[in-house]
Amino acid sequence: MLVNTKDLLIKARAEGYAVPAFNITDLQSITTIMDVCQEENAPCLLEAAEPTVKSLGADILQAMIYTLAKRYTVPVALHFDHGRTFEIIIQTIRAGFTSVMIDWSDRSFEENAAETKRIVEIAHSCGVSVEAEIGVVGSGADVLTDEEREATLTKVEDAKRFYEETGVDFLAIGIGTAHGMYKAEPKLDLERLEAISKAIPIPLVLHGGSGTPRLEETPPLGISKVNVFTDLQIPIRNKAKEILTTQPIEKIFPVRLWTEAHKAAAPVAREYLRKLGASGKA
Ligand SMILES: [Zn+2]
Repeated sequence: MLVNTKDLLIKARAEGYAVPAFNITDLQSITTIMDVCQEENAPCLLEAAEPTVKSLGADILQAMIYTLAKRYTVPVALHFDHGRTFEIIIQTIRAGFTSVMIDWSDRSFEENAAETKRIVEIAHSCGVSVEAEIGVVGSGADVLTDEEREATLTKVEDAKRFYEETGVDFLAIGIGTAHGMYKAEPKLDLERLEAISKAIPIPLVLHGGSGTPRLEETPPLGISKVNVFTDLQIPIRNKAKEILTTQPIEKIFPVRLWTEAHKAAAPVAREYLRKLGASGKA
């Protein structure tokens, strides 16, 4: 059953759990995640990033997910992750994504707020909700000094001002996580998270969920959406490699290979749903 992303996340924030936003790349990744969510009776939040939208087309993603969503009883929402240009964000809104992210977090506060406000006005007139980001969620490959790290974290007063100026629906914040694999153990600033969630009433978003310690402590403090990508990719790659290197080539059919490879990510997805408290919350 297709639903608005906003409905999923407002319920999550009110009840103190988080919905993992699983990054999908193709049909097999979509059905794998939907099956796990159905088994766990959990809300299903699928998100596509720009390379996937560009390679498949926003309309194809919409068609696959709207069709499949009718076969599942759990609520399903479709989010566009890390939108960097006006054009592609509008394409995904037009195609029927239930929420979009505008990521201008590397620009100045003023530019980020102005562009977010523009996207919010358009998206809201189409019934689509909007995520933006302030602070910096960098790459796990970067090892930062304490001073550099401090500069990437979201300030409480900035979050409040940004929310008030833009009317954004969900806000991604920097509290010490990073994208990809971590080189150094990340330190989450949970006090900062608590202060931000006391200052603004909307669902907060954590990017760079993969490999992050103490993740299960964040939903009661206001995190309602956690993006997961890298942790799903590892078992998929490993399974594909295993099949390709252990089976005779004439026995390998691409569709079966790819379906089996994706299924290897199912236990990881299940673990996230349980760890963040989303299981049983459909
Ligand atoms: Zn991200």
